[in-house]
Amino acid sequence: MRKRREELRVKREESFPTEVVLFPLYSTLCTPFLIVALILLAAGCDVTAPDRTDTYGFRLQPENVVFNWPLERRPVRYFAQAIGALPEYVRDGLTIWEAQLLYGEFEGVLTTDSAGADIRVVLEGGVPPVSPLISAPAVQACTGSTSATLASATKLAGPMLIQVRWFPGFTPADVVNCISRVTRHEIGHSLGLFQHSSNPADLMYGVPSVREPSTRDRSTVQVLYHTAANLTPADRP
Ligand SMILES: [Zn+2]
Repeated sequence: MRKRREELRVKREESFPTEVVLFPLYSTLCTPFLIVALILLAAGCDVTAPDRTDTYGFRLQPENVVFNWPLERRPVRYFAQAIGALPEYVRDGLTIWEAQLLYGEFEGVLTTDSAGADIRVVLEGGVPPVSPLISAPAVQACTGSTSATLASATKLAGPMLIQVRWFPGFTPADVVNCISRVTRHEIGHSLGLFQHSSNPADLMYGVPSVREPSTRDRSTVQVLYHTAANLTPADRP
């Protein structure tokens, strides 16, 4: 079956003097992509410190900038379209990503106020079938993307948009498993993981087939949230 890669798009507003830029992460990130900008603790950290050496890149390319949610913006507000179990999947996704950070560096909440949200999550393809999530091999019954617009080289213009689209022709369980899994993956992008892992065992692999963040996902997001950002979110309305 043709695999569908999730994607991350960032475009510039007209006020920013270049054309829309699409980041074809899906075509390049399966090659070894180890531009890992690590700002790691110096050697000699104590033995109980988390091992953050096995990570992948997270910087937005080609700008090579770092985005993470600043402390004063937490909890970050996610609006999830009320369709199927999407709000539940978003809440689950926030919980699992929060759990990857040791000191509450990221916190997200669901809001019903779409206008005041930092991230909007929508589901395309209509009302999905109803099924519980089950333990089963991943089937690519959906796809997703995360996009944002740059107001300038250092600031986003507005909320991020997560779009997940499901496809007919699959079992209900495969569809809902995919929506849940891809929602979790896209939420990872919205935290600032702006590249894909090249390892299929990671949730941030371009075609995610796992539901939980791996040790590498965990290490990478920890490094991200201990790296100074030089791209900031849009002001709240
Ligand atoms: Zn992705």
